[in-house]
Amino acid sequence: MRITGLNLQDFRNIASASLEFKDTNEFILGANAQGKSNLLEALSLVTALRSFRTRDIGDMVRFGTGAARLRYLIDHEKEGTSEVFCELMPSRKEISLDGQKVKRLGDFLGKFPSVVFSSQDIQFLRGSPSLRRRFMDLSLSAMDAEYYAALRDYHRSLKERNALLKQKPSPGAAELSSFEKMLAPAAAVMVKKRQQLTAALCDEMGAAYREISGSLEQPSLRYKPSTNYRSEDEFLAMLEKNRPRDLVYGSTQSGPHRDDFVLVLGDREAQPFSSEGQQRSLVLALKLAQVDWFRKHSGLKPVILADDILGELDNARREGFWRALPRDLQVFATGTAPPPDDPIQSWSFLGVEKGVFFNLPEIKSS
Ligand code: ATP
Ligand code: MG
Repeated sequence: MRITGLNLQDFRNIASASLEFKDTNEFILGANAQGKSNLLEALSLVTALRSFRTRDIGDMVRFGTGAARLRYLIDHEKEGTSEVFCELMPSRKEISLDGQKVKRLGDFLGKFPSVVFSSQDIQFLRGSPSLRRRFMDLSLSAMDAEYYAALRDYHRSLKERNALLKQKPSPGAAELSSFEKMLAPAAAVMVKKRQQLTAALCDEMGAAYREISGSLEQPSLRYKPSTNYRSEDEFLAMLEKNRPRDLVYGSTQSGPHRDDFVLVLGDREAQPFSSEGQQRSLVLALKLAQVDWFRKHSGLKPVILADDILGELDNARREGFWRALPRDLQVFATGTAPPPDDPIQSWSFLGVEKGVFFNLPEIKSS
C-alpha cells in the first residue's frame, strides 16, 4: 500500500494540515519539537489505531480542543483507492472505511500495515517482558483475527479469574472452573501462534542482520513460555492444579500473560552480552523481519515509518539497512538534518515548523 494523502485536524501540535505524497519517499525535516514524530505517529495510527508513543488516546488530541480528526487516502493492493477517516476523543475513537463505520476493530486491524522504526525499539531488548509480549501481540493481532480474538478472550477471562481469586473462594468453586474453561482454549491458540511467529521472525532475521552489521554471527529469537503446557487440556489441568498457589497470591501465576521472548546472538543472550552496535543492529533486523512477515502474511506492502533513526546509524549500518529493506515500500523518515547522501535512497523533503508543514523543493543531502 501507499499513503497518497493525509489531512489532520487538531492532532497533537498540528492544528490543520493537508498533505499529498508523491511516488518518492518522504523525508520530514525540522528542528526539535516542531511536529516530525507527531506526523509519523498520525501515519502509524492507520494500522491498528494504536500509538507507538502513548496508550492514552487523549494525549493525541491537540491541547484545548475536544477531538483530533485524521483522513487518509490510500492506494491499496486489495481495496483499490481507499479513504480512512478517524476521530479521536479522550474517551473513545471512531473509524470509518470508505464512508462505512467500522464496528469491530478486529475487522479493521491489519488492512493497512505499517512498521515504525524508532529509538524506542531498543526497549525490546532492555525493557520488561510486557514490551516484548506487546510487540508479538500487536504483530499477530494485525495479521490474524483468530489470534486477536484469543488474546481478547484470554485477558477478559484472566481478569475475571483474578478478581475471583482475590475473594478467596474454596479451591473447588464452580466459578473458578468456568473461567478456566474459557482461558484454556485461548491460551492454547496464543502459545501455538506465538511459536509460529517466533520461528518466522527468526528465519528472516539472519539475512537482515548480516546486511546491517556486516557480521556473520547468527541472530535468533527464542520463545520462553511461562509453562510447558501446550494443549487446551494441559492448560486446564495446570490451572486446576495451580489453584491453591494462585489463591495465596490472589492472581494467576502462570500462562501466556507471563511469557517472554529473548534475542540471541551466536549462542548467547544479546541483552547482557552484546555491544551497543550489535544490539541496535539486532533490533533493526527484528523489525525488518516483521516487515517481511507482514508482507508474506497479507500480500500487502507495509509502509515504513522511520522516526529519527537514520542519524543514529553509522554509514555502513545505514546503507545495510536500506539494502535489507525491499525497494518497493513507501518510506517516511524524519530528522533534524537532511540524511546523508545514500546511493540507494532518494527523497522528497517536507519541512515542519510549529506544527505547520511546507514543501522544501530542493535540498542537498549532507
Ligand atoms: P524531536 O526532534 O525532538 O523528536 P519532533 O519534531 O519529533 O521533535 P514532536 O514529538 O512531533 O517533535 O512534538 C512536537 C510538539 O508537539 C512538542 O512541542 C510537544 O510538546 C507538542 N505536543 C505533544 N502533544 C501535544 C498535544 N496533545 N497538543 C499540542 N501539542 C502537543
Ligand atoms: Mg521526534
